Amino acid sequence: MATVAELLIEGQARLRASGSESPRLDAELLLGHVIGLERTAIIAHPTAAVGDGAAAQYREAIARREAGEPVAYIRGLKEFFGLAFSVDRRALIPRPETERLVELAEAEIVARLTAAPRPAGAPPIEVVDIGTGSGVAAIALAAALSKRGMLHEVRLLATDVSQDAIALARENAVAHAVADRIDFAVADLLPGAVGQFEVVLANLPYVRGDAMAGLPRATSFEPRLALDGGLDGLSVIGRLLERLPSDLARDGVALLEIGGDQGEAIVAEVARRLPGWSCRVELDLGHLPRVARVEREARP
Ligand code: GLN
Repeated sequence: MATVAELLIEGQARLRASGSESPRLDAELLLGHVIGLERTAIIAHPTAAVGDGAAAQYREAIARREAGEPVAYIRGLKEFFGLAFSVDRRALIPRPETERLVELAEAEIVARLTAAPRPAGAPPIEVVDIGTGSGVAAIALAAALSKRGMLHEVRLLATDVSQDAIALARENAVAHAVADRIDFAVADLLPGAVGQFEVVLANLPYVRGDAMAGLPRATSFEPRLALDGGLDGLSVIGRLLERLPSDLARDGVALLEIGGDQGEAIVAEVARRLPGWSCRVELDLGHLPRVARVEREARP
């Protein structure tokens, strides 16, 4: 029987040769996955013997990774906002940058709920996550509001054009015990006549068409629909901007994830499609543009 250390060295060497940027981490995650242990437990026990069945499963997982498949799809799992989500080829793998979108949406909702004491019986704040994919933004937001005891004051809708993605998002909502607090709908951006939203959040596809081919190999396993933002990368976001005059409440705010090089482009796009509206770009921890904040007029 092989030991943990032997299997890690073997897997790491194969993954390095196949071009993985993080061969050691990948091998640790995949071995942990087949044994059913956290990565830290794997690292702590290098001399532990691994059964032949588990070793065979591990080698199969390494082979999938060698072929370029992302670790998250092989494990069926990705952490996001401190929570574990099921992921598979039905939807994009959640990216850490999208945590910024959730933080801003949470801050926005908390500010609205605490700015003026809401009278008893006031209607809930209507929030929509457009292009929810595996559901992570809506679900992480619901979980964060639930921790604050505020979830009952919010109504959440999550939409996606892909029926498969919505099915996965529903599974994740059930796993995180917020399925009764989120409505899901298959729709291109928004279903017709759903009323107005105070907070819109969206991580729509924004990769420029000509940049698609240059993405890391792992992204070729993900739905193209979730990444390809058309010629200038802003075609889907642009279509959403067109819906805001009718679907965003008067004092509502739309939070739109953008690419790190799209700060100026989104400001120009909002000026062109929504004259008189304001667009501020929020930066991420690396000081890159990450979320566009679009609303009817600049507020002090
Ligand atoms: N940040 C993602 C990537 O670069 C793109 C996500 C998206 O298009 N919404 O892979």
